[in-house]
Amino acid sequence: MNKTLTININKSKHSKLETTNFDELSFGQIISDHMFVAEYKDGEWQDLRIEPYGPLQINPANATLHYGQSVFEGLKAYRNEAGEILVFRGDANQRRLNESAQRMCIPEVPEEIFMEGMRKLLEVDKDWIPKQAGCSLYIRPFIFAADDYLGIRPSNNYKFMILTSPVGNYYSKPVAVKVETQYARAVEGGTGAAKAAGNYAGSLFPARKAQKEGYDQLLWTDGKTHQYIEESGTMNVMFVIDGTLITAPISTGTILKGITRDSVLILAKEMGMPVEERFLTVSELEDALLSGRLEEAFGTGTAATVAFIRLINIHNKDYVLPEKAAGAFSDRVLKRLDDIKYGKVADDHGWIMKI
Ligand SMILES: *Cc1c(COP(=O)(O)O)cnc(C)c1O
Repeated sequence: MNKTLTININKSKHSKLETTNFDELSFGQIISDHMFVAEYKDGEWQDLRIEPYGPLQINPANATLHYGQSVFEGLKAYRNEAGEILVFRGDANQRRLNESAQRMCIPEVPEEIFMEGMRKLLEVDKDWIPKQAGCSLYIRPFIFAADDYLGIRPSNNYKFMILTSPVGNYYSKPVAVKVETQYARAVEGGTGAAKAAGNYAGSLFPARKAQKEGYDQLLWTDGKTHQYIEESGTMNVMFVIDGTLITAPISTGTILKGITRDSVLILAKEMGMPVEERFLTVSELEDALLSGRLEEAFGTGTAATVAFIRLINIHNKDYVLPEKAAGAFSDRVLKRLDDIKYGKVADDHGWIMKI
């Protein structure tokens, strides 16, 4: 791919900007005016374009509809005080998209197509990046199989697309979670480390069961013994026990390599916080709750950045976490991350890409 990239732009004649209420944004409901599209045909990515957001023509025999050969990403663009557009760790999302793609036999998207496609789309839809404090533009790149064929094999044709969606001031309420010991999200050798569409379909049923019982989300355990805490449905999960930050390692291939997770671990070390990447057992977690040594528990992910956990259900027993102390690690690291994302402090890590 040494050709210079040509991205054709076909602008929408009917912007939804005027009729969108930026003061009441719920996650994922409103899609901005344009979308980026690239087609994989004859062994290469081609026909790069930006067009008005709208329906696709899909043949009912489309392979993705039947077999779920599809992967996605999620990242965000923020506005700093000067009104400039900042994207947080987009290079990490680009690499992870290709790691997910590899696992699902999907051709990788070259870095320049991902980056230029995203950059152009953000330029065209820059007015969709909210100016309100705490708001941002969620970016959803995804790749899916485009063959019309009912046989099971990797598709020959694919689409790579990027959508964006303005999201609100997402100070999530502290969540109640349930430790899941019957169903599994991932197993060793499976697809848990990939942001693959099917992983999420498979987790809906157990998650809905927990929601009916009054819990917001699950804490998944390992698929083999259900003794080790892995992660939550769309977030990695971290615990502070006796002043040490503990989170599951990513070496088993059963845990999604969260970019927020990685960022929090890097910042924790810089903040002088002892860090352990190791599996916490369910009984160790229960002991820490019973003896009052569990100081904090939280999920990490692009949507909420840090989601505080207020209650954990283990084997049908609810444990309420202690009130967060002043100067709690999760509060401090959330503020530090937000300051970096909104360009309020220097970007010492090279995490910010200016559009
Ligand atoms: C996307 C995702 C996360 C969080 O990853 P970030 O890069 O921090 O947004 C964690 N777990 C699962 C299962 C995910 O899909």
